[in-house]
Amino acid sequence: MKQLLFSELIKIKRSKKSLSTEQINYIIDQYTKELVPDYQMASMLMAIFLNSLNNQETLDLTNAMLNSGKTIDFNDSNSFFVDKHSSGGIGDKTSMILSSIVACFPNIKVPMISGRGLGHTGGTLDKLDSIPGFKTQITTDEFKKNVNDIGFSIMGQTSEICPADKKIYSLRDVTGTIESLPLICASIMSKKLAEGIDGLVLDIKVGSGAFMKTMPEALSLAKGLKNIGLMANKKMSVIITNMNQPLGRYCGNILEIKECIDILKNRDFKSCQDTRELSIRLAAEMIFLSGHFKNLNECLKLCEQKLVNGEAYRKFEQLVIAHGGSLDELPEPKHSLLISSPENGYIKSFNAEQFGLLNIQLKAGRSKSDDQLDYTSGIEIKAKIGDKVSNKDILFVLYGNDLKLLKEHKNYLFETKAISFSKKKVNKPKLVLKKV
Ligand code: URA
Repeated sequence: MKQLLFSELIKIKRSKKSLSTEQINYIIDQYTKELVPDYQMASMLMAIFLNSLNNQETLDLTNAMLNSGKTIDFNDSNSFFVDKHSSGGIGDKTSMILSSIVACFPNIKVPMISGRGLGHTGGTLDKLDSIPGFKTQITTDEFKKNVNDIGFSIMGQTSEICPADKKIYSLRDVTGTIESLPLICASIMSKKLAEGIDGLVLDIKVGSGAFMKTMPEALSLAKGLKNIGLMANKKMSVIITNMNQPLGRYCGNILEIKECIDILKNRDFKSCQDTRELSIRLAAEMIFLSGHFKNLNECLKLCEQKLVNGEAYRKFEQLVIAHGGSLDELPEPKHSLLISSPENGYIKSFNAEQFGLLNIQLKAGRSKSDDQLDYTSGIEIKAKIGDKVSNKDILFVLYGNDLKLLKEHKNYLFETKAISFSKKKVNKPKLVLKKV
């Protein structure tokens, strides 16, 4: 088929018409090979941003980005390969726990390719990098070996996987085209489909600490992602969960790893029940997709058992050792700073995004891609929404190696109005809000 000029393809989208599969393949192929300049691709992205893509175009874009690089093939038809994707939150460390649980089930395997922190949200790779020696940049062959031998592996994206997404994401970042639903869906799903999975569980966060602040926005993302997965013949399960407060006890890299270890070792988890509950729920959704179990309740019970009997912890240890890491001596922050409540009453609400932004200030997250992190820094949240607190009770603890930085940010959460109080009793919020 003779291709149109790239400028003619831009005009098709500019005039709200649909692009064909061949045209979308051509656009992605030409841009990946650097045969189309950034200014033309930027114009195409803006046309998509303004006029959107239909379901077929979004699937075509996903496939074109997927096929721009290598995909992983496990050549193992006896196992069910399943992953989880979360749309980004504060203190969300469930990936480490749920993948350790799921890996305990014979013939269910988790090939997880994860990202670094994005904006105010934390990333699984930064958390794993805080474990001494742990290598997140491994080769695809090492990744496949770990998945086959241990039942799971977690690594960063390699340059071989979805190179088109890498180029397009960078261009979107500087052209005001990040917040486009079809572009977000194609970007996320192309990377997930490259893992060679049979099923995918999505945890779409909604609330003050999420990218999707309202339920209608979260539902649009959930449906958009689910649609692509179903059209690509993957088993899909999608839940929408509450991100109006940080998840669990800690936000910050090594602090979150310690919380995972506490949960995996069944100790001291009263203060992080929400992390434990969500990890078990997502793990249960993952094994349920395999079709080997009767119902979700059975899966929930089995997943909790794997935590309680210590099997999941042993899987996590195996993963750490296979990635060159050691859990023997985790780094400890040099300093801590206690922050007490200015009021008596119940905690009414948090602005969870501010906890993520404070973490960036404390160097637990990045504001630029080359920022150096202090892996020990972060926040402990000692009281959550619905808890009754008295004036002078400790609400938060800031941790890190730079005491001056901690002191400078002592009042950050109050100055940014990240917490509000009520004299009246406040109910504890629900964690899992909806199944889509
Ligand atoms: N995460 C991605 O990988 N891509 C997006 O476009 C947004 C979030």
